Amino acid sequence: MDERLQCHLCNKEDNEGIIILNKYICRECELEIISPSVDELKYEVIKRSIKDIWKGVFININVNSNGISF
Ligand SMILES: [Zn+2]
Repeated sequence: MDERLQCHLCNKEDNEGIIILNKYICRECELEIISPSVDELKYEVIKRSIKDIWKGVFININVNSNGISF
């Protein structure tokens, strides 16, 4: 129950966040992702990390690439 996970974005460890595609995102980063008021530089960093996560997914589902668009 008190297993701590390390955030994929900020490397902080807690256990109140979410797991997206097997990558843990801490509560703080989760709120930043969904917040419209996040400052641009930070948002850019977050966006890149998310892209990295998606890239890994694309490699995994490459076999079935028909109809997948972003
Ligand atoms: Zn975080």
